[in-house]
Amino acid sequence: MSQIYDRVALIGLGLIASSMYWGIKRAGLAGEVTGFARSEETRATARRIGLCDRVCDTVQEAVDGADLVVLCVPVGAMGPLAQEIAPVLMPGATVSDVGSVKRHVIADVGPHIPEGVHFIPAHPLAGTEHSGPESGFAELFDNRWCLLVPVEGSDPEATAHLRALWEGLGSKVDEMDADHHDLVLAVTSHAPHLIAYTMVGVADDLRRVTDTEVIQYSAAGFRDFTRIAASDPTMWRDVFLTNKDATLEILGRFTEELFALQRAIRTGDGEQLFDYFTRTRAIRRGIIDAGQDTDAPDFGRGKA
Ligand code: NAP
Repeated sequence: MSQIYDRVALIGLGLIASSMYWGIKRAGLAGEVTGFARSEETRATARRIGLCDRVCDTVQEAVDGADLVVLCVPVGAMGPLAQEIAPVLMPGATVSDVGSVKRHVIADVGPHIPEGVHFIPAHPLAGTEHSGPESGFAELFDNRWCLLVPVEGSDPEATAHLRALWEGLGSKVDEMDADHHDLVLAVTSHAPHLIAYTMVGVADDLRRVTDTEVIQYSAAGFRDFTRIAASDPTMWRDVFLTNKDATLEILGRFTEELFALQRAIRTGDGEQLFDYFTRTRAIRRGIIDAGQDTDAPDFGRGKA
């Protein structure tokens, strides 16, 4: 894979930015990668572990001379950051982001992008429940989707460059419009996270009654919820605040289905439960067939 950008600036040095850095190095996709994080502590960690070719103490210094700037901070922090970097953006440069919500980022960041600078939002559908500069790894994006969400007037050549970067990072790349993206992600990621948070919260309440049994006898279903519910609180607060409509729409549907299943249990309607679970099992099969997960029992954990 050959070099696509001369200088890439990664703003925010958490899971996604650090994985991008290691992936860029693995494939030689950029001449130099600069990095900035708001806290001195994160910048010191980045320097210690060799994350980024140059860690800068100001965001302007990191962005100066970059032909690609990627905002890798929580969705709610992107607008103010775009305002800060606007005066130093190089003409012809591309600004992108990795935020989990797209309509809100476009509304917040778009107005700050100067004439002559390309703005191409993106969202890699890859992550873990870990965060921070030490959580990244080069393989995170391998065989995962990255959705590009070009805005009105996005330059096709600049979009092609960004696509090549994500392909170089190992991703499969697709384009999608912002509203559709936010609805799809509400179904596949945002609502499931909220449900996991809720279930772990319920178990935590119960734990007060049953002492430590919830943790001690934790079975696979609950453990999988706890993994999701361990995700970064700032990131997920921002996701729900900024993808409000789509998430509420999906949660409304979820509640209706839950009531229907609740009723089937109460009335002893085994046929409805069986048919429902048969349908959901087929969806799981589809996800495995699409290469989006492993078929290994208990997610390949080995021992229960
Ligand atoms: P992370 O590991 O928690 O790192 C976030 C980084 O943003 C840190 O360097 C932090 O700086 C910085 N930051 C936080 N608040 C800030 C603020 N108000 N102003 C400036 N910088 C700020 O986060 P991440 O998981 O990489 O997520 C980054 C973005 O990727 C988010 O928009 C998220 O929606 C998106 N995303 C995440 C996942 C995932 O699974 N984690 C997947 C796809 C997309 P300090 O360390 O100095 O505090």
